[in-house]
Amino acid sequence: MTTRDPQVLVAGAGPTGLVLALFLTHQGIRVRIIDPVAEPGTTSRALAVQARTLELYRQIGLADAVVERANTFAAVNLWVAGKRIAHVAFGKLGEGMSPFPYMTIFPQDEHERLLTQRLADLGVEVERGTALAGFEDLGDRIRARLRRTGGATGGATGGATGGATGGATGAGDEFCEVPYLAGCDGARSVVRETLGITFLGGTYDQMFYVADTEASGPVTDGDLHVALDVSDFLAAFPMKGAGRVRLVGMVRPDVAMQHTPLQWSDISQRVVERLKITVERVNWFSTYRVHHRVAGKFRQGRAFLLGDAGHIHSPVGGQGMNTGIGDAVNLSWKLAAVLDGRANVRLLDTYEPERIAFARRLVSTTDTVFSFVTSSTPIARWVRLSVVPRILPPLAALDWARRFLFRTVSQIALQYRASRLSAGAAGGVHGGDRLPWVPPDTGAVNGATTGDNYTPLTSLDWQMHVYGDLPPGVGAICSARGLALHVFPWRPAMQAAGIDPGTCLLVRPDGYVAVAGDGASPEKLERYLNEWELRSRVKG
Ligand SMILES: Cc1cc2nc3c(=O)[nH]c(=O)nc-3n(C[C@H](O)[C@H](O)[C@H](O)COP(=O)(O)OP(=O)(O)OC[C@H]3O[C@@H](n4cnc5c(N)ncnc54)[C@H](O)[C@@H]3O)c2cc1C
Repeated sequence: MTTRDPQVLVAGAGPTGLVLALFLTHQGIRVRIIDPVAEPGTTSRALAVQARTLELYRQIGLADAVVERANTFAAVNLWVAGKRIAHVAFGKLGEGMSPFPYMTIFPQDEHERLLTQRLADLGVEVERGTALAGFEDLGDRIRARLRRTGGATGGATGGATGGATGGATGAGDEFCEVPYLAGCDGARSVVRETLGITFLGGTYDQMFYVADTEASGPVTDGDLHVALDVSDFLAAFPMKGAGRVRLVGMVRPDVAMQHTPLQWSDISQRVVERLKITVERVNWFSTYRVHHRVAGKFRQGRAFLLGDAGHIHSPVGGQGMNTGIGDAVNLSWKLAAVLDGRANVRLLDTYEPERIAFARRLVSTTDTVFSFVTSSTPIARWVRLSVVPRILPPLAALDWARRFLFRTVSQIALQYRASRLSAGAAGGVHGGDRLPWVPPDTGAVNGATTGDNYTPLTSLDWQMHVYGDLPPGVGAICSARGLALHVFPWRPAMQAAGIDPGTCLLVRPDGYVAVAGDGASPEKLERYLNEWELRSRVKG
């Protein structure tokens, strides 16, 4: 059913568009979400769901459903020439840093189905077989041209489907007027192309494959297995279900050039040799090429770019989908606040700088790691075969190294300190940081567990956190502005999370700190709220 009088048109029902639609709907915004493809994707691409994504999902009550369906793994094994040469045990890598301290694997197709179902539960259906064919920004609204596509199926890398996105107006086109347009339409984004925004970067020479298998052998033990020997990438990811393993690897250049389309039999012998795996059944096999590009802008007028429409990079580190989801959450609360008249429209200007900086860094880091993993120079080979297997196991036992690894990969270290929305510092916490997580107090009165400091984030609203004693003046401002005030009695776990006694944090709806201070000058807080004309959802 088409949403009447939508406030945001979401083009694309991949993970980015679905999460944007979900968060907007949770905040009472009317969305219309369209996709040219008739059915949700059945080809799984992203596997890793990072801890930061789960923290954000927890805000809308979705994290538990993902964790229940997902697989976690606690160790990585390194293989050279058919032999396991190192076992790196991680355990709960991020213990004490996040409520989700582990590595989670949840195939993208199942993930998209879950998001689609949650959206339907809230009364929003994805309009399939409908493509954005073009649009005009009229200054005060967007006029979008939608075209029925008959639901052609998308390729393994998503993107626009054939014939749906031509420039000229077609006979059956429908026009849809909305205040804002969200371009979540993948790497070949029509939104980006219509705006003439550049997408600079390149495409790696290598071809990759992905195979969903049912197998037996040592790599089906529930750990992650990575073969390091030659200058190509090969990994076996544990999937839910006995013997289910997803193989991701690079096709040797001579094989890639032989013939297309490639079959499992073209690469199977080498996989078997390198990982000592017995593949009983291949449920799905596909090849793809990897790009690294970032759009020149993430916003123009009333249109925004999110997810793969704005940035694509190598799958090394499992960051792509998670970054798109981060874009969606960042934009969702800003759009909701502006559409509801709860913030100055300038709030929308902060979306691009906050997200594009991270996307640029990510493309450059994943490029460096990818180049190293696939390099055939003698030095890279020596590091891969001699240095990594020797230093990784002892390194993984060191607390600081484990923390560094978890912080980097899980996206919990992502911060917006340079944003115009961020102000102040208190102890180790700066405006723009992700709210440090303080674990629940298991030793509270009568042994009862009190909630952690992320529990109030489910309101998706601005809120004030005070750790320790409430300074004078802060309570009065909160009640005058309808701002939820959460005073957490002091306990040592807060210091361990980097929070000093007496710290006051104004927290954004997405769980990032806006203003950090000691509460000594509440007028600074008042000035901040006035500058952005912020009002809470509760007071409306
Ligand atoms: C093999 C592989 C492995 C990967 N592994 C990981 C991983 O482990 N972790 C990770 O985080 N990321 C990974 N990624 C990246 C991840 O798959 C993408 O980043 C993710 O799919 C991006 O989501 P998206 O919603 O932005 O775009 P997409 O998933 O591409 O979705 C875009 C949607 O827009 C629709 N669309 C296209 N044109 C139009 C139009 N004109 N109008 C309306 N809708 C339109 C498409 O049909 C599609 O449904 C991997 C990618 C690949 C290829």
